Amino acid sequence: MSVTHAPEGSVDVLRRQDPELAEILLGELDRQATTLQLIAAENFTSSAVLAALGSPLANKYAEGYPGARYHGGCEIVDVAERVAMQRAQALFGAEHANVQSHSGSSAVLAAYAALLRPGDTVLALGLPYGGHLTHGSPANFSGRWFDFVGYGVDAETGLIDHDQVRALARTHRPKAIVCGSIAYPRHIDYAFFREVADEVGAYLIADAAHPIGLVAGGAAPNPVPYADVVCATTHKVLRGPRGGMILCGSELAERVDRAVFPFTQGGAQMHTIAAKAVAFGEAATPAFSAYAHQVVANARILAAGLAAEGLVVTTGGTDTHLITADPAPLGVDGRRARGRLAAAGLILDCCALPHDDARGLRLGTAAVTTQGMGEREMGRIAALLGGVLRGEVDGKRARAEVRELAGRFPPYPR
Ligand SMILES: *Cc1c(COP(=O)(O)O)cnc(C)c1O
Repeated sequence: MSVTHAPEGSVDVLRRQDPELAEILLGELDRQATTLQLIAAENFTSSAVLAALGSPLANKYAEGYPGARYHGGCEIVDVAERVAMQRAQALFGAEHANVQSHSGSSAVLAAYAALLRPGDTVLALGLPYGGHLTHGSPANFSGRWFDFVGYGVDAETGLIDHDQVRALARTHRPKAIVCGSIAYPRHIDYAFFREVADEVGAYLIADAAHPIGLVAGGAAPNPVPYADVVCATTHKVLRGPRGGMILCGSELAERVDRAVFPFTQGGAQMHTIAAKAVAFGEAATPAFSAYAHQVVANARILAAGLAAEGLVVTTGGTDTHLITADPAPLGVDGRRARGRLAAAGLILDCCALPHDDARGLRLGTAAVTTQGMGEREMGRIAALLGGVLRGEVDGKRARAEVRELAGRFPPYPR
């Protein structure tokens, strides 16, 4: 499913008033349309989502929640927020949705604020294995305010070490267990984490920032029936505006809401909330479900293609949109590989590799699938990537091939 209206129209006004910024916006649009966005966390929102984001709802101050605001004149934006909440609740089968979190990190901060006190012990996937900054990094509030214990993945299989999770939970008796990752390519066994959390009396927080869009499309298991609180972003596979949300049962609704506002945020961003509602509406369609399944099918083909090119694919493949791979067998580490590929127009991330000091590559298929690419194009991308890293395809030729491929699948067709 590709989006059907060029966003250049909205730049016209800007072009007349501020050519400098108009140039920048058009330059970025051109960059996105002529390179391949393989960053696992990125996607192309629809023009309907962009329209809501660029709307006068951005002008409205709305501290509080629908029906209980600190500002006047909220009667219309209240409806927008109620629609966003109802759509999210229906989409994920949740009793309560808070759609005000400004980002995925803000959603996690609020989840901790709702359930924990500073100094509490939290068990989460360790950062070297794909834990997010908010899962205990010393550079983040989480590492400073809580006592994080990290579980890991099996050195052989790359899969989450369930025996270790259970053993660490029994030893450390955490107040909360976090499951969710920035780089884990497989489904997470939420029933297992629920069982361990129940055994030690911990809350279960699912940080589903990455897979929540696959959940919406029925292409990944839903954490909502298992976790006490689910944190998510709206801008990754879900294809909405940049932002976060929190899903929970009615018994925690009030604590979660108070943890978002007034504890960690001020006024809600009503244009973003309206855009989230638009994205939830899109995600409830059969077309989005087909999209989510195609994202996974594309990732499986791309992973197999990368393995055939000689990269070592973590866990041997993927269940999701996300792949991590070690390019070392091609004689290059992740950091240098990322630079070389970027010069060719293949835009992706480095990531930590489990049990290895070198950096690997992390890539995803959400954006290229939105553009309408399928399994044939994934094979072509894998071959190009391998050719560039082996030095067989020179940068100029690779860049021309990427430009040609991207040109056939414009993210915003005119
Ligand atoms: C992306 C991500 C986040 C943070 O989202 P931001 O919107 O960048 O703050 C948090 N947790 C996980 C697991 C993520 O993948």
